[in-house]
Amino acid sequence: MKIALDVDGVLADVIKSWLHYNNNRRKTITKNEITEWDFWKKFAIKPDQFDNELSLCWRSWEQIPPTENKLSSAVCELTNLGTVDIVTAREHSTNTYVKSWLKTQNITYHKYISVEDGKKKAELNYDIYIDDSPINAEQIANIGKNILLYSQPWNLAIHDSRIKRIEKLMDAVKIIKEQKF
Ligand SMILES: [Mg+2]
Repeated sequence: MKIALDVDGVLADVIKSWLHYNNNRRKTITKNEITEWDFWKKFAIKPDQFDNELSLCWRSWEQIPPTENKLSSAVCELTNLGTVDIVTAREHSTNTYVKSWLKTQNITYHKYISVEDGKKKAELNYDIYIDDSPINAEQIANIGKNILLYSQPWNLAIHDSRIKRIEKLMDAVKIIKEQKF
């Protein structure tokens, strides 16, 4: 079984770093206000600008908190169930920072796969995806693959029986172990 594990929003809580960046410069936004994937539109932030700011946050990767405690043990349990690759959509210059972050968090994985666009993820050869993007989730479900959607404020509007929601990474371990997808 091949498992694709996302980084931003699933392992790394990079939005917290971005909020810190934003809130020092623009109107304050809280994480719970980010109820849409393209929330930046609402705040008159351009998509390129948002992407650049996320890359800037990754440059200070030591400051990026994990989404939850004991991430490394949950990922370790996943690696006992299948081949776990990190599959991340990002600007290429940030890959070294992400790898350093994963190492510091003691996260073990098989391969590190970086794609330029999240939309490319669904086409890759994986049986199960763990991701927080509502767009990726729908695409993955549309081609009949398994998607475990990591709950975040920006994906709560998704209600789709093909998309299984998880609150913690350990939920993925349980679902995969019991084959309840
Ligand atoms: Mg993500």
